Amino acid sequence: MKIAFIGLGNMGGGMAPNLVKAGHAVRAFDLSEAALAHAREGGCATVTSIEDAVEDVDAVVSMLPNGAIVKDVYTNHVIGRAPSDGILIDCSTIDVATAREVEKLAADAGYAMVDAPVSGGIAAAAAGSLTFMVGGADGAFSRAENVLKGMGKAVIHAGGAGAGQAAKICNNMMLGVHMIGTCEGFAMAQRLGLDPQVFYDIASVSSGQSWSVTSYCPVPGVGPTTPADNDYQGGFATALMLKDLKLAMEAAETAGIDPEMGRRAKELYEAFDAGGNGSLDFSAIIRTL
Ligand code: NAD
Repeated sequence: MKIAFIGLGNMGGGMAPNLVKAGHAVRAFDLSEAALAHAREGGCATVTSIEDAVEDVDAVVSMLPNGAIVKDVYTNHVIGRAPSDGILIDCSTIDVATAREVEKLAADAGYAMVDAPVSGGIAAAAAGSLTFMVGGADGAFSRAENVLKGMGKAVIHAGGAGAGQAAKICNNMMLGVHMIGTCEGFAMAQRLGLDPQVFYDIASVSSGQSWSVTSYCPVPGVGPTTPADNDYQGGFATALMLKDLKLAMEAAETAGIDPEMGRRAKELYEAFDAGGNGSLDFSAIIRTL
């Protein structure tokens, strides 16, 4: 398949070469020359505009920073330039409303499009082991699945347009809440005189268990190796968790609900980020609790 890949940053820079490994011909574009050079090392052809990237392709994949950029890229550069029988796949994490708006604009112009945000960070992007949550019509999903399986371990159809983004932000709101609860539990256990390893051994097989406890323990030296063991470097940056919690609160407002714990998690991550901790892994919030 001929595939255009737009946005070759931390995530896209790992994903595009996996499409090459899966046997596709990838034409890649990014605003950054360093990102283009990295993509060439990964076997992608590079071009100097989105229009050149999408000419005559079977699929367009994008991995961009936010909804405003996704809307600009698709409405001003992809729609009307890519062949209208190509499948459009946006893997960025953006707000549900913009995802639906762009998918509607694409549909009106005759394109099949899906939102396909990912779970898994930079390491999973490079390893080809992402999970894709896909929103779009049945036919569009099947076509997107053929492309996405080259970059991930699971491709799940979440529902209609925007459903992938909805699943992603609900999942990450739960994660933000669980992580803060986990940090509070470990901090309190220590204050009550418990050994963190002993508390881990108990909580990891008791009803306090969660992914934040067993796969991503925020306490150094306890459980599997996590960013906590690397001074909270790498992993999932606080700034990105905050981005996702903001998107979750926007979606909650649109849905007419007020998720109290999600809102509180957003406030706590906002304060942590404002303290200059945006680049630290999100589990570093334990330092404040
Ligand atoms: P990044 O900032 O490293 O990469 C974004 C890339 O897009 C940059 O290389 C930038 O030059 C490029 N870009 C910006 N505007 C462009 C345009 N108009 N045309 C072409 N290229 C353009 O970000 P990232 O960490 O790769 O994240 C990308 C998306 O993936 C975000 O939506 C993020 O929320 C999501 N995400 C990130 C992670 C993570 O751990 N980093 C995990 C899951 C999801």
